[in-house]
Amino acid sequence: MPDELPFPESLCHRCAAPPRYVRTKSSLFILCPLMPEERKYPPQPVRSCPLFRPREK
Ligand code: SF4
Repeated sequence: MPDELPFPESLCHRCAAPPRYVRTKSSLFILCPLMPEERKYPPQPVRSCPLFRPREK
């Protein structure tokens, strides 16, 4: 996992969802494709998530 990912401890990085990384000039946001619209940018770091499934290598 590249060093520049925000919140390296977040579950999202290891999730099979898979999350999408949305870059702006100054930030990188984690977009979850499984969460409803109003929660698609879950508060980070995500430490537990009912929708988490471990990503296969
Ligand atoms: S399902 Fe949960 S852990 Fe997986 S990417 Fe979405 S918010 Fe993160």
